Amino acid sequence: MTLAVGVDLGGTNIRAALIDVEGGRETGDVKAPVQNKNPEAVADLVAKLVAEVDPDKKRVGVGVGFAGMLRGWTGVVVNSPNFGWREVPLRALLRDRIGERTELYNDLNAIAFGEAKYGGAKNIADVLCVYVGTGVGGGLVLDGKLYIGSTHLAGEIGHTKVVPNGRLCGCGQRGCLEAYVSGVHLQARAQEELHAGKQSSVIALAKSIDNVHAGFLDQAASAGDAYASELWNEASGLLGLVLANAVTLINPQRLVMGGGVWQGAPELKRRTLDVMRSLANKPSIDSGFSVSDTLLGDSAGRLGAAALVSGVFS
Ligand SMILES: [Zn+2]
Repeated sequence: MTLAVGVDLGGTNIRAALIDVEGGRETGDVKAPVQNKNPEAVADLVAKLVAEVDPDKKRVGVGVGFAGMLRGWTGVVVNSPNFGWREVPLRALLRDRIGERTELYNDLNAIAFGEAKYGGAKNIADVLCVYVGTGVGGGLVLDGKLYIGSTHLAGEIGHTKVVPNGRLCGCGQRGCLEAYVSGVHLQARAQEELHAGKQSSVIALAKSIDNVHAGFLDQAASAGDAYASELWNEASGLLGLVLANAVTLINPQRLVMGGGVWQGAPELKRRTLDVMRSLANKPSIDSGFSVSDTLLGDSAGRLGAAALVSGVFS
């Protein structure tokens, strides 16, 4: 049995688990809130959780899934809006505390690998995994291996452009998919438009404009509300278009979809998949292609990061 520690390093919480890599099982799991976003303090907290979950150092390594953009295999965080970091040598800080066999992965890449080995695409070689939640991200597993691209930035589907010079995205550029379909952007946009006088039954559903979020918009769209339905047509149209083009380009056997917005918005999901199926290259989806929801919930990233660092599947 190969044991490795998998860590989810998110902007709100850090979770760590000791994982039986061949079995895909967590043998222990700890969690702590991120109270101090100073890089040294975050590295200290990760090291503390790793020691808690694996006090006898039975692990072959520590894999960390991190919410941010990385530079190649240098372990340097180029940019992480969640932490407010730029150019932080996170892997070096972690290795100083934990040991050499510690590796950093983009969080969606780790999730994609976890789903491809243990979850919604188990035993499938070519997988595209896309999360629509607070942000929008993706990961690619090709021929059974994680594909990170030339500089570790493959899978950034949320920052593909859907409207030239469109809405401002958290990445600093305009017109990204994320600026039209992420939970944060949908909520902010709907609240802004409703405060400006747009009429919608979603206000009554949410009890106030400031409570409106993607889940309420989905209920309103499903019930035929004109405002929510129009917003949902736009969001599903853009998301479906990007997914269709990604499927046409990559030719995966399975598309795994997850994230808080995706899971909490069945109407958006239905419309998006209709658009995706109508726009994807026909032969690419006509045989052997299927769509699945994520199966591992929030343990996918820990499982994937542990599996990656263990080297068991490479
Ligand atoms: Zn962007």
